[in-house]
Amino acid sequence: MNVLVVDDSSTMRKIIGLALGGAGHTYKEAENGRVGLAKAREDKFECIVLDVNMPEMNGIEFLRERSKDPALSKVPVIVLTTQDEEALKAEALGLGANSFLVKPFQKEVLAQTLASVVRS
Ligand SMILES: [Mg+2]
Repeated sequence: MNVLVVDDSSTMRKIIGLALGGAGHTYKEAENGRVGLAKAREDKFECIVLDVNMPEMNGIEFLRERSKDPALSKVPVIVLTTQDEEALKAEALGLGANSFLVKPFQKEVLAQTLASVVRS
């Protein structure tokens, strides 16, 4: 699959990218939600892995913009954040995110989640 990784931490993008590459996926990177939206619209992705806390446009704002875009709202989103908070999880899922994972993550869990959100 081709996956878009949206995270402001270049280290985290590298870690996620290694996990995706190890599972046989290709990926592209975006450093915030605004750049992520632009890249998601100009390329074809099977899934988006989305951080929450980012400058310019955070993950919640990204989800809000995505929900207004019929084409983009079909692309599954896995939220991957350090913020292990029920209220945030509920908000993200309510805005259309397909799954919510907390960092640090296990690469097997990311790969399984990816497979399941793309299937459903
Ligand atoms: Mg961040």
